[in-house]
Amino acid sequence: MMSGPSLQAEEIPSNLYKPNAPLSAKIIEQRRITAPDSPNDVHHIVFDIAGSNLRYVEGQSIGVLPPGTDANGKPHKLRLYSIASPAVGDDGEGKTVTLCVKRAVTKVEETGEIFQGVCSTFLCDANIGDTVQLTGPVGKSFLMPAVPNANLIMFATGTGIAPFRAFLHKRYHQLKQETGESWLFFGAQTRRDFLYEDELARYSSHPGCHIVTAFSREEKNRQGGRMYVQHRLLEYADTLFNLLQKPETCLYVCGLRGMEGGIIEGFQEAAALQGIHWDDFLAQLKAQKRWHIEVY
Ligand code: FAD
Ligand code: NAP
Repeated sequence: MMSGPSLQAEEIPSNLYKPNAPLSAKIIEQRRITAPDSPNDVHHIVFDIAGSNLRYVEGQSIGVLPPGTDANGKPHKLRLYSIASPAVGDDGEGKTVTLCVKRAVTKVEETGEIFQGVCSTFLCDANIGDTVQLTGPVGKSFLMPAVPNANLIMFATGTGIAPFRAFLHKRYHQLKQETGESWLFFGAQTRRDFLYEDELARYSSHPGCHIVTAFSREEKNRQGGRMYVQHRLLEYADTLFNLLQKPETCLYVCGLRGMEGGIIEGFQEAAALQGIHWDDFLAQLKAQKRWHIEVY
């Protein structure tokens, strides 16, 4: 039976580079991965970590120290980004780490003022060859199960796809054994923001791999509102709840803060139909470390 932490604590690299002694890593790949006509600017950024001590496992995050100082003259604080590459890196040799970064822009409606996020602007504007200060890795609770036959149920909004790209890469490129089922629900505003569409399409040809999308500004849910991942979940609620009752199934949610609420409601409904008390069931999932939420 599979449950409990994915890896032994000593196998999880942690804080190999700290803010007072970060790793200077060169950008070796930098490209926009939203369509040219999308209002959302998301970048795939690959860093060279060859020769460094940086190692990581799928599901961890990297810290970025943006250059410069804040309004108080203090160095900018570190920002975290989920790692989008498998532990072997996109290069397959552990010499790179990849991030998937959305340019954060806020428009204050009342004044019309526009604020650019410090770190995401720095990263999205950086060029190949530029050096970035990295820390980490961090994170011990959003890791892949150690056994290949685990079923993975994954919900991502926007750049929340990052850790799942790593999970699926590991599962379908590296693991030679038979794997469990993979269910990935990906939500974005429109198809123009379908991150890593080609890669995901390739995975969906593997038996037991299901990729389901929810494009909120193009599709409507049953109530006529925006289509979110939790509405898609309702279409498969019975199948997924049955899967979740198997001890080798783990659930992951990554992306926008608050998105987990709709997912809980979806499963609650499916549990009620089967006469199962959801709160007790959820407590059990958490105790068995099969329920993983990383939202921001
Ligand atoms: P900040 O400068 O910190 O600003 C934050 C927001 O406030 C911006 O939207 C900015 O436009 C707005 N703002 C700034 N000043 C004002 C003002 N005066 N009035 C109104 N609004 C203002 N992000 C990703 O893109 N990809 C990831 O994979 C990812 N993974 C994450 C993993 C974890 C574990 C966590 C905790 C966060 C993750 N994030 C990720 C979010 C990331 O850490 C940053 O929070 C994000 O990039 C915004 O940082 P920033 O420095 O660009 O914006
Ligand atoms: P986004 O484009 O704002 O949203 C992605 C999709 O989610 C859109 O279709 C959006 O719909 C929909 N959505 C909005 N509210 C929702 C809800 N309550 N439930 C389900 N779906 C909802 O996303 P993004 O800008 O890429 O941002 C992703 C967020 O994840 C960022 O805040 C980022 O910092 C964070 N993040 C966190 C982690 C982490 O913690 N590990 C990792 C990666 C990213 P509408 O816009 O049409 O309403």
